[in-house]
Amino acid sequence: MRMSKLLMPTLREVPAEAEIASHQLMLRAGLIRKLAAGVYSYLPLGLRSLKKVEQIVREEMDRAGAQELLMSALLPAEAYQASGRWEVFGPSMFKLKDRNDRDFCLGPTHEELFTQTVIDNVRSYKEYPMTLYQIQTKYRDEGRPRFGLIRGREFIMKDAYSFDLDEKGLDESYKKMYDAYCRIFTRLGLDFTIVDADSGAMGGSGSQEFMVKSPVGEDGIAYCDACGYAANYEKCECIPEPKEQPEGELDLEKIETPNAHTIDELVDSLGMEAYNFAKTIIYKADDKYVAVMVRGDRDVNEVKLKNLLGCTDDPELAEPEAVREITHAKVGFAGPIGLGIPVYADKEVALMKNFVVGANETDMHYKNVNIGRDFEPDTVADIRVVVTGDKCPKCGASIKSEQGIEVGHIFKLGTKYSDALGLTYLDESGRNKTVIMGCYGIGVTRCLAAAVEQGHDENGIIWPVSIAPYQAIVVPANYKSEEQMAEAERIYAALCDAGIETLIDDRNERAGVKFKDADLIGIPVRIVVGKKIGDGIVEYKERKMEKAEEMAAEDAVARVAEFIRSNI
Ligand code: ATP
Ligand code: MG
Repeated sequence: MRMSKLLMPTLREVPAEAEIASHQLMLRAGLIRKLAAGVYSYLPLGLRSLKKVEQIVREEMDRAGAQELLMSALLPAEAYQASGRWEVFGPSMFKLKDRNDRDFCLGPTHEELFTQTVIDNVRSYKEYPMTLYQIQTKYRDEGRPRFGLIRGREFIMKDAYSFDLDEKGLDESYKKMYDAYCRIFTRLGLDFTIVDADSGAMGGSGSQEFMVKSPVGEDGIAYCDACGYAANYEKCECIPEPKEQPEGELDLEKIETPNAHTIDELVDSLGMEAYNFAKTIIYKADDKYVAVMVRGDRDVNEVKLKNLLGCTDDPELAEPEAVREITHAKVGFAGPIGLGIPVYADKEVALMKNFVVGANETDMHYKNVNIGRDFEPDTVADIRVVVTGDKCPKCGASIKSEQGIEVGHIFKLGTKYSDALGLTYLDESGRNKTVIMGCYGIGVTRCLAAAVEQGHDENGIIWPVSIAPYQAIVVPANYKSEEQMAEAERIYAALCDAGIETLIDDRNERAGVKFKDADLIGIPVRIVVGKKIGDGIVEYKERKMEKAEEMAAEDAVARVAEFIRSNI
C-alpha cells in the first residue's frame, strides 16, 4: 500500500477523555474514530488489525471443531423474556420497538438464541456434541463506557456455545475451548493469566477468565506465586486472619462519637485501629434489606454477597432514607445490636473480640462488643474482598494482586438455558434428557486494545507481527532523490511479491516525519533507503530495536521475510 494514498489521519493531540495509552494511541495513529460514547468506527489500519484478530480466533475455533454461523444483532424479545434476561439485563440492554409495536433488543450476548437454534434445528441425540460460534457485533448500554475499545457500547465478540449429552461431555467441550483460548491469546501476542471466576448463584459449575495483566484493567486478580493459584477478586476465597486482641470479654459501653460517620473519622477520634471496628452496611437486595458486617479495614465483595443471598438483582447500598428508617439514626451509625433486619457477618467479624460497632443512634457507638453476648449474626460467611497479603486458599502462602483486562471468559452453564427454553433430547432408550451447555466469549475488539495496551512505548504502538496492520514498511528518506525512490520501489515490489504486507512511504514529507509515523502506527520492521544506497546499503530496524542496522540492500527482502516468518 502506498502511504500517499492511505487514509491514515494521525493526530498530534488527543481528547482528554482518552485516559489510557491504548485509547490515545489508537486515536493518534488513525486506527479508530469515536462516533458516540463507546461507539467507534474502524479506519483502514484499525480494520486490518481487527480482521487479523478475528481470523486467528476463527482458525482456532475451527481447529477445535466448532462451527461458525452468524446471527442477527436485532433480536425479538421472546427468547430473552423466556430466560428472564429481558429484565435481568436492566438498563444495559438496548431495547426498541418495530412499527407494529413488537419488542426487540440489540443482542448483548446470544445464549438464548443459540439454544433456540439448536431446539429448532437439531433432530437427534446423535448430532451432539456440538459447538457453534459466531464473530458478531454486540450491544450493551454500559454504565461507564470508557477506555476506547476496552469498554464499548458496541463491540465485537466471538461467542461460542457447546451442547453436550452429559456432564462428562461438557468437561471435554470446555477443555477444547480452554486449549483453543490458550492458542488464540498466544498467537495474539498477549501475555495472559487464567483465573478462576465467579460462576454466579444460578447454574454454572465452573468458569475461568483470561486476563491481560495491566494497571488499567478493571478486574482484580489475586494470585499466588507459590502454588500458581489465580482467581478473580470476585471469586477468590478469603481466609480469615484474626488480629491479636485482649483476652476475655470487657464490659459493653455506649460511647459518644459526634460527627464520626466513617471508619477513618472513628480511627482518628477514638485512637484505635480500623481493624478494631466492624462496619455494618445496609444493602437492598431484591426489595429486601439486609445488614452486612465486615471488619473496618475490609470491603464487602458484592458478588459473594449476591451469591450468598441468591438474589436476582445486584445488591445495592440502601438509600439514605431507608438507612435512617431502619437504624433510627443518621447514616453512619448502623450496628447489629437490636437491628430489625437479617445480619450477615463476614467470617473475620466472627473472630473479633471487644470491637466497636454503630449503636443505631445518631453520634453513638458501642465499644467492647462481643458476638454471642451482645448479638448473634443470622449468617456467618465469606463476604469480603481479598487483599494483598491474605493467605492463599490453596497453599497458605501470601496472596499477591494485580489488575487485569478480561479478554476471554469460558463458562460451564449446565442446564440454565436448556431448562428455561426447553432444550431436551431423547436418548437411545427413548428417555427425555436435558442438553448440557457451555458458553465461551472473547472480546475481539477489546483484544485489539489490550494488545496496544501491552505493546507500546513513548513513540507509539509496537504491534505483535501477527496482528500488525502491515508487516513491513519501506521508507525512502529523501523524496526528491530519484535513486532512493527507485530503489525503495524495487524493495517494496520484492517484499509484496514475497507475500509480505508492506507499506511504502512515498509521501513528500521529511524523513523525520516518516520515521515518527512508522513508529506511531507500530509497523514491526522498517527498511530505510537513504544516502548510502549509492554503496548498496540500506537501514534495517525492527520496531523493538533501539537502533537501526546497516545492511546490503540486496539482502533486505530475505532478512525481512525471515523476521516475519519467525515472529508470526
Ligand atoms: P466485563 O466484566 O468486562 O463487563 P463481562 O464479564 O460482562 O465483561 P462477558 O459477558 O463475559 O463480559 O463477555 C465476553 C467477553 O466480551 C468478555 O470477556 C470481554 O472480553 C468482552 N466484553 C464484554 N463487555 C465488553 C465491552 N463493553 N466492550 C468490549 N468488550 C467487552
Ligand atoms: Mg465475563
